[in-house]
Amino acid sequence: MILMRDKRAIIIKSPRLQKIRNNLRLLLLKAARTERERLYKEWRGFLVGSEGKRHSIKEFSPDKLEQFRNLQEQEEILKSISDRSICKCIACGKADRDMVYNKAYDAWYCTDCYGLERSVAQRRTKTRERGSKSCEEKALEEHSKTFL
Ligand SMILES: [Zn+2]
Repeated sequence: MILMRDKRAIIIKSPRLQKIRNNLRLLLLKAARTERERLYKEWRGFLVGSEGKRHSIKEFSPDKLEQFRNLQEQEEILKSISDRSICKCIACGKADRDMVYNKAYDAWYCTDCYGLERSVAQRRTKTRERGSKSCEEKALEEHSKTFL
């Protein structure tokens, strides 16, 4: 078990409980996906009418445009909630693993991905170079620090 500040690991050792956890996760992810598909079809319906005629958003009234954008926003929020939930690893997408929460990203990583990120971060700390760094190198360093 990984014990760190601002980090939380949820580890289940019992195979029976793991199976229940995994099935619940799949059920929740499927429910979220079904709702996202419904929202997608609804906003897509604004662009392609039932007769198959395409409509431009430029043709939309202000009310219709607001409704269209609200549906897209709801779908995107649901995707973000689903992606960042404990139901699946934000890095590899696996839903059948023990998870570790990384507060800096407000997201869950499976223990494999978290361990990989952590070992890269530890190596990066040991080989820290002095002097000027590119923006990319600085961003990678900041990313790695969240796993230490
Ligand atoms: Zn993973």
